[in-house]
Amino acid sequence: MNIHEYQAAELLARYGIPTNPGTVATTPDEVEQAAANANGVVVVKAQVHSGGRGKAGGVKLAKSALEARSAGEQILGMDIRGHTVHKVLVAPGVSIAREFYLGVVLDRPNRKLVVMASAEGGVEIEIVAKESPEKIRTAHIDPFLGLHPYQARQLGFELGLEADKVGGFADIVLKLAKLYQELDATLAEINPLILTEEGKWLALDSKVSFDENALFRHPDFEELRDMNEEQATELEARRSGISFVKLDGNIGCIVNGAGLAMATMDAVKLHGGEPANFLDVGGGASADQVAKAFSLVTADPNVKAILINIFGGITRGDIVAHGIAEAMGRVGVTVPIVVRLSGTNAEEGRAILDENGLHAVATMDEAAAKVVAAAAA
Ligand code: GDP
Ligand code: MN
Repeated sequence: MNIHEYQAAELLARYGIPTNPGTVATTPDEVEQAAANANGVVVVKAQVHSGGRGKAGGVKLAKSALEARSAGEQILGMDIRGHTVHKVLVAPGVSIAREFYLGVVLDRPNRKLVVMASAEGGVEIEIVAKESPEKIRTAHIDPFLGLHPYQARQLGFELGLEADKVGGFADIVLKLAKLYQELDATLAEINPLILTEEGKWLALDSKVSFDENALFRHPDFEELRDMNEEQATELEARRSGISFVKLDGNIGCIVNGAGLAMATMDAVKLHGGEPANFLDVGGGASADQVAKAFSLVTADPNVKAILINIFGGITRGDIVAHGIAEAMGRVGVTVPIVVRLSGTNAEEGRAILDENGLHAVATMDEAAAKVVAAAAA
Protein backbone atom coordinates (compact mmCIF):
# COMPACT_ATOMS: atom_id res chain seq x y z
CA MET A 1 0.00 0.00 0.00
CA ASN A 2 1.39 3.36 -1.05
CA ILE A 3 0.81 6.70 0.65
CA HIS A 4 1.53 10.29 -0.32
CA GLU A 5 4.67 12.26 0.43
CA TYR A 6 2.88 14.53 2.94
CA GLN A 7 1.60 11.48 4.83
CA ALA A 8 5.04 9.85 4.81
CA ALA A 9 6.51 13.11 6.15
CA GLU A 10 4.05 13.02 9.06
CA LEU A 11 5.17 9.49 9.93
CA LEU A 12 8.85 10.47 9.73
CA ALA A 13 8.18 13.43 12.00
CA ARG A 14 6.47 11.10 14.47
CA TYR A 15 9.77 9.18 14.63
CA GLY A 16 11.72 12.37 15.26
CA ILE A 17 13.18 12.79 11.77
CA PRO A 18 13.40 16.47 10.77
CA THR A 19 11.04 17.18 7.87
CA ASN A 20 9.81 20.24 5.99
CA PRO A 21 6.10 20.24 6.78
CA GLY A 22 3.69 22.11 4.54
CA THR A 23 0.02 22.49 3.72
CA VAL A 24 -1.98 20.25 1.40
CA ALA A 25 -4.03 22.14 -1.20
CA THR A 26 -6.52 20.93 -3.78
CA THR A 27 -7.34 24.18 -5.62
CA PRO A 28 -5.29 27.15 -6.89
CA ASP A 29 -7.07 29.31 -4.26
CA GLU A 30 -5.87 27.04 -1.49
CA VAL A 31 -2.35 27.03 -2.93
CA GLU A 32 -2.29 30.84 -2.98
CA GLN A 33 -3.60 31.01 0.59
CA ALA A 34 -1.06 28.46 1.85
CA ALA A 35 1.76 30.34 0.13
CA ALA A 36 0.57 33.65 1.57
CA ASN A 37 0.58 32.09 5.05
CA ALA A 38 4.08 30.70 4.51
CA ASN A 39 5.19 34.24 3.68
CA GLY A 40 8.29 33.58 1.59
CA VAL A 41 9.58 31.27 -1.11
CA VAL A 42 7.55 28.06 -1.29
CA VAL A 43 7.79 24.83 -3.20
CA VAL A 44 4.59 23.44 -4.74
CA LYS A 45 4.76 19.66 -5.12
CA ALA A 46 2.38 17.24 -6.84
CA GLN A 47 1.07 14.56 -4.45
CA VAL A 48 0.80 11.39 -6.51
CA HIS A 49 1.89 7.81 -5.92
CA SER A 50 4.74 8.11 -8.39
CA GLY A 51 8.37 9.20 -8.36
CA GLY A 52 10.03 11.46 -10.89
CA ARG A 53 7.68 14.32 -10.14
CA GLY A 54 10.52 16.84 -10.38
CA LYS A 55 11.43 15.76 -13.91
CA ALA A 56 7.76 15.76 -14.98
CA GLY A 57 7.31 19.39 -13.88
CA GLY A 58 5.40 18.44 -10.74
CA VAL A 59 7.75 20.31 -8.34
CA LYS A 60 7.94 24.09 -8.70
CA LEU A 61 9.54 26.84 -6.62
CA ALA A 62 7.49 30.03 -6.26
CA LYS A 63 8.66 33.39 -4.92
CA SER A 64 5.24 34.84 -4.20
CA ALA A 65 1.70 33.74 -3.42
CA LEU A 66 0.67 34.61 -7.00
CA GLU A 67 3.53 32.60 -8.48
CA ALA A 68 2.51 29.73 -6.22
CA ARG A 69 -1.05 30.02 -7.49
CA SER A 70 0.10 29.74 -11.08
CA ALA A 71 2.32 26.77 -10.16
CA GLY A 72 -0.75 25.19 -8.55
CA GLU A 73 -2.82 25.84 -11.69
CA GLN A 74 -0.17 24.09 -13.78
CA ILE A 75 0.37 21.12 -11.46
CA LEU A 76 -3.21 20.34 -10.35
CA GLY A 77 -4.78 18.08 -12.96
CA MET A 78 -1.40 17.26 -14.50
CA ASP A 79 -0.69 13.64 -15.45
CA ILE A 80 2.49 12.15 -13.98
CA ARG A 81 3.25 8.66 -15.27
CA GLY A 82 -0.44 7.83 -15.48
CA HIS A 83 -1.37 9.46 -12.15
CA THR A 84 -3.64 12.50 -12.17
CA VAL A 85 -2.66 15.17 -9.63
CA HIS A 86 -5.55 15.95 -7.25
CA LYS A 87 -3.50 17.48 -4.42
CA VAL A 88 -0.33 19.50 -4.01
CA LEU A 89 1.87 20.13 -1.01
CA VAL A 90 2.86 23.75 -0.40
CA ALA A 91 6.00 23.82 1.76
CA PRO A 92 8.50 26.52 2.68
CA GLY A 93 11.36 26.69 0.15
CA VAL A 94 14.65 25.44 1.54
CA SER A 95 18.15 26.31 0.39
CA ILE A 96 19.96 23.07 -0.32
CA ALA A 97 23.71 22.61 0.20
CA ARG A 98 23.91 18.87 -0.52
CA GLU A 99 21.41 16.15 -1.48
CA PHE A 100 21.66 12.53 -0.30
CA TYR A 101 19.64 9.35 -0.73
CA LEU A 102 18.64 7.17 2.21
CA GLY A 103 16.37 4.14 2.02
CA VAL A 104 15.42 0.91 3.77
CA VAL A 105 14.15 -2.10 1.78
CA LEU A 106 14.08 -5.86 2.06
CA ASP A 107 17.10 -7.55 0.47
CA ARG A 108 15.46 -10.85 -0.48
CA PRO A 109 18.55 -12.83 -1.58
CA ASN A 110 20.25 -11.95 1.71
CA ARG A 111 17.07 -12.39 3.74
CA LYS A 112 17.70 -9.19 5.64
CA LEU A 113 16.61 -5.59 5.60
CA VAL A 114 19.17 -3.32 4.06
CA VAL A 115 19.86 0.38 4.52
CA MET A 116 21.04 2.06 1.33
CA ALA A 117 22.67 5.46 1.31
CA SER A 118 24.25 7.58 -1.37
CA ALA A 119 25.80 11.01 -1.71
CA GLU A 120 24.15 11.13 -5.15
CA GLY A 121 20.74 12.18 -3.83
CA GLY A 122 17.87 13.94 -5.55
CA VAL A 123 18.04 11.86 -8.71
CA GLU A 124 16.33 8.49 -9.10
CA ILE A 125 18.25 5.88 -7.15
CA GLU A 126 17.61 3.29 -9.89
CA ILE A 127 19.75 5.41 -12.22
CA VAL A 128 22.59 5.64 -9.67
CA ALA A 129 22.33 1.88 -9.11
CA LYS A 130 22.68 1.24 -12.83
CA GLU A 131 25.34 3.78 -13.75
CA SER A 132 27.53 3.93 -10.65
CA PRO A 133 26.54 1.22 -8.18
CA GLU A 134 29.71 1.86 -6.14
CA LYS A 135 28.15 5.17 -5.08
CA ILE A 136 25.45 3.35 -3.13
CA ARG A 137 26.65 2.21 0.29
CA THR A 138 24.72 -0.42 2.21
CA ALA A 139 24.36 -1.84 5.72
CA HIS A 140 22.36 -4.96 6.50
CA ILE A 141 20.09 -5.09 9.53
CA ASP A 142 20.55 -8.16 11.69
CA PRO A 143 17.04 -9.62 12.20
CA PHE A 144 17.79 -10.41 15.85
CA LEU A 145 20.10 -7.60 16.90
CA GLY A 146 18.70 -4.76 14.80
CA LEU A 147 20.73 -1.99 13.22
CA HIS A 148 23.75 -1.05 15.32
CA PRO A 149 24.51 2.65 15.81
CA TYR A 150 28.09 2.04 14.63
CA GLN A 151 26.75 0.73 11.29
CA ALA A 152 24.77 3.93 10.80
CA ARG A 153 27.81 6.07 11.61
CA GLN A 154 30.00 3.99 9.30
CA LEU A 155 27.54 4.62 6.44
CA GLY A 156 27.93 8.33 7.11
CA PHE A 157 31.72 8.12 6.92
CA GLU A 158 31.49 6.05 3.73
CA LEU A 159 29.45 8.85 2.15
CA GLY A 160 32.35 11.19 2.93
CA LEU A 161 30.52 13.24 5.56
CA GLU A 162 32.53 15.57 7.77
CA ALA A 163 32.86 14.22 11.31
CA ASP A 164 30.45 16.78 12.78
CA LYS A 165 27.68 15.74 10.33
CA VAL A 166 27.89 12.00 10.99
CA GLY A 167 25.98 12.01 14.29
CA GLY A 168 22.92 13.73 12.81
CA PHE A 169 22.97 11.44 9.79
CA ALA A 170 23.27 8.27 11.89
CA ASP A 171 20.39 9.41 14.08
CA ILE A 172 18.12 9.68 11.00
CA VAL A 173 19.29 6.29 9.68
CA LEU A 174 18.41 4.58 12.98
CA LYS A 175 15.02 6.29 13.19
CA LEU A 176 14.13 5.38 9.60
CA ALA A 177 15.06 1.72 10.23
CA LYS A 178 12.91 1.75 13.38
CA LEU A 179 9.98 3.22 11.45
CA TYR A 180 10.34 0.57 8.74
CA GLN A 181 10.28 -2.29 11.22
CA GLU A 182 7.59 -1.00 13.56
CA LEU A 183 5.19 0.06 10.79
CA ASP A 184 5.65 -3.08 8.65
CA ALA A 185 6.85 -1.05 5.70
CA THR A 186 8.05 -2.51 2.42
CA LEU A 187 9.88 0.69 1.56
CA ALA A 188 10.97 3.73 3.57
CA GLU A 189 13.10 6.22 1.72
CA ILE A 190 14.19 9.83 1.88
CA ASN A 191 15.24 11.36 -1.43
CA PRO A 192 16.61 13.86 -1.11
CA LEU A 193 17.82 13.90 2.46
CA ILE A 194 19.51 17.27 2.51
CA LEU A 195 22.02 19.35 4.36
CA THR A 196 20.74 22.92 4.35
CA GLU A 197 22.98 25.94 3.84
CA GLU A 198 22.82 26.25 7.64
CA GLY A 199 24.21 22.73 8.04
CA LYS A 200 20.95 21.14 9.24
CA TRP A 201 19.69 17.72 8.14
CA LEU A 202 16.21 17.70 6.58
CA ALA A 203 14.12 15.00 4.93
CA LEU A 204 12.91 17.01 1.93
CA ASP A 205 11.02 14.23 0.15
CA SER A 206 10.11 10.85 1.54
CA LYS A 207 8.25 7.77 0.47
CA VAL A 208 6.76 5.01 2.65
CA SER A 209 4.90 1.89 1.46
CA PHE A 210 3.28 -0.69 3.72
CA ASP A 211 2.99 -4.45 3.54
CA GLU A 212 -0.69 -5.13 2.70
CA ASN A 213 -0.50 -8.42 4.57
CA ALA A 214 0.45 -6.67 7.81
CA LEU A 215 -2.28 -4.02 7.64
CA PHE A 216 -4.38 -5.93 10.18
CA ARG A 217 -1.82 -4.77 12.72
CA HIS A 218 -2.32 -1.13 11.68
CA PRO A 219 -6.05 -0.50 11.22
CA ASP A 220 -5.41 3.26 11.46
CA PHE A 221 -3.47 3.19 8.14
CA GLU A 222 -6.73 2.59 6.27
CA GLU A 223 -7.44 6.32 6.44
CA LEU A 224 -4.14 7.00 4.65
CA ARG A 225 -5.41 5.17 1.59
CA ASP A 226 -6.13 7.43 -1.38
CA MET A 227 -8.96 5.91 -3.43
CA ASN A 228 -7.94 8.05 -6.44
CA GLU A 229 -4.67 6.14 -6.57
CA GLU A 230 -6.00 2.62 -6.16
CA GLN A 231 -6.72 0.17 -8.96
CA ALA A 232 -10.55 0.06 -9.02
CA THR A 233 -10.56 -3.69 -9.61
CA GLU A 234 -8.12 -4.41 -6.79
CA LEU A 235 -10.28 -2.40 -4.39
CA GLU A 236 -13.40 -4.27 -5.49
CA ALA A 237 -11.58 -7.57 -5.06
CA ARG A 238 -10.46 -6.70 -1.54
CA ARG A 239 -14.07 -5.97 -0.59
CA SER A 240 -15.16 -9.45 -1.72
CA GLY A 241 -12.26 -11.24 -0.02
CA ILE A 242 -10.63 -12.15 -3.35
CA SER A 243 -6.86 -11.75 -3.70
CA PHE A 244 -6.35 -10.05 -7.04
CA VAL A 245 -3.31 -8.52 -8.65
CA LYS A 246 -3.55 -7.08 -12.14
CA LEU A 247 -0.76 -8.06 -14.52
CA ASP A 248 0.07 -7.22 -18.13
CA GLY A 249 -0.76 -10.43 -20.03
CA ASN A 250 -3.95 -11.52 -21.82
CA ILE A 251 -4.95 -14.74 -20.03
CA GLY A 252 -7.33 -14.22 -17.15
CA CYS A 253 -6.85 -16.67 -14.28
CA ILE A 254 -9.47 -17.72 -11.72
CA VAL A 255 -8.08 -20.15 -9.18
CA ASN A 256 -8.86 -21.43 -5.70
CA GLY A 257 -5.84 -21.14 -3.41
CA ALA A 258 -2.86 -18.81 -3.62
CA GLY A 259 -0.30 -21.56 -4.21
CA LEU A 260 -2.35 -23.08 -7.01
CA ALA A 261 -2.85 -19.61 -8.47
CA MET A 262 0.90 -19.12 -8.68
CA ALA A 263 1.43 -22.59 -10.15
CA THR A 264 -1.28 -21.79 -12.71
CA MET A 265 0.55 -18.65 -13.78
CA ASP A 266 3.75 -20.68 -14.15
CA ALA A 267 1.92 -23.27 -16.27
CA VAL A 268 0.52 -20.52 -18.52
CA LYS A 269 4.01 -19.05 -18.96
CA LEU A 270 5.48 -22.48 -19.61
CA HIS A 271 3.14 -22.76 -22.57
CA GLY A 272 4.21 -19.38 -23.89
CA GLY A 273 1.29 -17.33 -22.54
CA GLU A 274 1.18 -14.35 -20.20
CA PRO A 275 -1.27 -14.16 -17.28
CA ALA A 276 -3.45 -11.04 -17.11
CA ASN A 277 -3.81 -11.38 -13.36
CA PHE A 278 -3.24 -13.33 -10.20
CA LEU A 279 -6.57 -14.28 -8.64
CA ASP A 280 -7.36 -16.45 -5.64
CA VAL A 281 -11.12 -16.80 -5.09
CA GLY A 282 -10.50 -18.18 -1.61
CA GLY A 283 -11.68 -21.49 -0.25
CA GLY A 284 -15.30 -21.80 -1.34
CA ALA A 285 -15.59 -20.88 -5.03
CA SER A 286 -19.33 -20.27 -4.62
CA ALA A 287 -21.40 -18.86 -7.49
CA ASP A 288 -21.12 -15.42 -5.88
CA GLN A 289 -17.34 -15.55 -5.65
CA VAL A 290 -16.93 -16.93 -9.17
CA ALA A 291 -19.32 -14.32 -10.59
CA LYS A 292 -17.28 -11.62 -8.82
CA ALA A 293 -14.08 -13.16 -10.19
CA PHE A 294 -15.53 -13.17 -13.74
CA SER A 295 -16.39 -9.52 -13.52
CA LEU A 296 -12.94 -8.62 -12.12
CA VAL A 297 -11.13 -10.54 -14.84
CA THR A 298 -13.31 -9.40 -17.74
CA ALA A 299 -13.02 -5.75 -16.67
CA ASP A 300 -9.56 -5.92 -18.24
CA PRO A 301 -9.92 -5.37 -22.01
CA ASN A 302 -6.62 -7.21 -22.61
CA VAL A 303 -8.13 -10.52 -21.51
CA LYS A 304 -8.54 -12.83 -24.53
CA ALA A 305 -9.25 -16.13 -22.72
CA ILE A 306 -9.91 -17.28 -19.16
CA LEU A 307 -8.46 -20.23 -17.33
CA ILE A 308 -10.42 -21.50 -14.33
CA ASN A 309 -8.34 -23.88 -12.29
CA ILE A 310 -10.06 -25.50 -9.32
CA PHE A 311 -8.78 -28.25 -7.11
CA GLY A 312 -11.52 -29.73 -4.98
CA GLY A 313 -10.16 -30.43 -1.54
CA ILE A 314 -12.77 -29.63 1.06
CA THR A 315 -14.63 -27.82 -1.72
CA ARG A 316 -16.55 -30.36 -3.80
CA GLY A 317 -16.14 -30.29 -7.59
CA ASP A 318 -19.88 -30.59 -8.31
CA ILE A 319 -20.65 -27.58 -6.13
CA VAL A 320 -17.92 -25.57 -7.81
CA ALA A 321 -19.26 -26.59 -11.23
CA HIS A 322 -22.76 -25.39 -10.29
CA GLY A 323 -21.16 -22.15 -9.10
CA ILE A 324 -19.31 -21.66 -12.39
CA ALA A 325 -22.41 -22.43 -14.46
CA GLU A 326 -24.57 -20.09 -12.42
CA ALA A 327 -21.94 -17.33 -12.51
CA MET A 328 -21.66 -17.65 -16.31
CA GLY A 329 -25.40 -17.17 -16.53
CA ARG A 330 -25.18 -14.01 -14.46
CA VAL A 331 -22.09 -12.42 -16.01
CA GLY A 332 -22.01 -12.44 -19.79
CA VAL A 333 -18.50 -13.70 -20.63
CA THR A 334 -17.62 -13.32 -24.30
CA VAL A 335 -14.06 -14.74 -24.31
CA PRO A 336 -13.26 -18.48 -24.42
CA ILE A 337 -13.14 -20.23 -21.04
CA VAL A 338 -11.02 -23.26 -20.22
CA VAL A 339 -11.75 -25.14 -17.00
CA ARG A 340 -9.52 -27.56 -15.18
CA LEU A 341 -11.29 -29.37 -12.40
CA SER A 342 -9.84 -32.12 -10.29
CA GLY A 343 -10.07 -33.46 -6.75
CA THR A 344 -13.17 -34.36 -4.76
CA ASN A 345 -16.20 -35.07 -7.00
CA ALA A 346 -14.30 -33.80 -10.05
CA GLU A 347 -16.01 -36.17 -12.46
CA GLU A 348 -19.49 -35.12 -11.34
CA GLY A 349 -18.32 -31.53 -11.67
CA ARG A 350 -16.99 -32.00 -15.19
CA ALA A 351 -20.29 -33.64 -16.22
CA ILE A 352 -22.20 -30.60 -14.93
CA LEU A 353 -19.88 -28.27 -16.84
CA ASP A 354 -20.35 -30.36 -19.99
CA GLU A 355 -24.12 -29.92 -19.70
CA ASN A 356 -23.48 -26.18 -19.59
CA GLY A 357 -21.35 -26.18 -22.70
CA LEU A 358 -17.97 -26.03 -20.98
CA HIS A 359 -15.53 -28.81 -21.60
CA ALA A 360 -13.41 -29.23 -18.49
CA VAL A 361 -10.05 -30.95 -18.52
CA ALA A 362 -8.36 -32.87 -15.74
CA THR A 363 -4.76 -31.68 -15.85
CA MET A 364 -3.23 -28.26 -15.49
CA ASP A 365 -0.84 -28.87 -18.34
CA GLU A 366 -3.65 -29.60 -20.79
CA ALA A 367 -5.64 -26.62 -19.54
CA ALA A 368 -2.69 -24.23 -19.84
CA ALA A 369 -1.92 -25.41 -23.40
CA LYS A 370 -5.60 -24.98 -24.38
CA VAL A 371 -6.01 -21.52 -22.90
CA VAL A 372 -2.80 -20.23 -24.51
CA ALA A 373 -4.01 -21.53 -27.88
CA ALA A 374 -7.46 -19.97 -27.30
CA ALA A 375 -5.94 -16.58 -26.45
CA ALA A 376 -3.77 -16.65 -29.56
CA ALA A 377 -6.65 -17.63 -31.88
P1 GDP B 1 10.60 13.79 -6.92
O1 GDP B 1 11.16 14.29 -8.22
O2 GDP B 1 9.24 13.19 -7.11
O3 GDP B 1 11.51 12.85 -6.22
O4 GDP B 1 10.39 15.08 -5.97
P2 GDP B 1 11.32 15.77 -4.88
O5 GDP B 1 10.47 16.28 -3.80
O6 GDP B 1 12.45 14.88 -4.48
O7 GDP B 1 11.89 17.05 -5.62
C1 GDP B 1 12.78 16.95 -6.71
C2 GDP B 1 13.90 17.96 -6.56
O8 GDP B 1 13.38 19.28 -6.44
C3 GDP B 1 14.76 17.77 -5.31
O9 GDP B 1 15.77 16.82 -5.47
C4 GDP B 1 15.32 19.15 -5.12
O10 GDP B 1 16.49 19.32 -5.91
C5 GDP B 1 14.23 20.07 -5.65
N1 GDP B 1 13.50 20.67 -4.50
C6 GDP B 1 12.47 20.14 -3.81
N2 GDP B 1 12.09 20.94 -2.79
C7 GDP B 1 12.94 22.01 -2.83
C8 GDP B 1 13.12 23.21 -2.04
O11 GDP B 1 12.42 23.46 -1.07
N3 GDP B 1 14.11 24.05 -2.41
C9 GDP B 1 14.93 23.81 -3.48
N4 GDP B 1 15.89 24.69 -3.77
N5 GDP B 1 14.81 22.73 -4.23
C10 GDP B 1 13.84 21.83 -3.94
MN1 MN C 1 12.44 12.75 -4.46
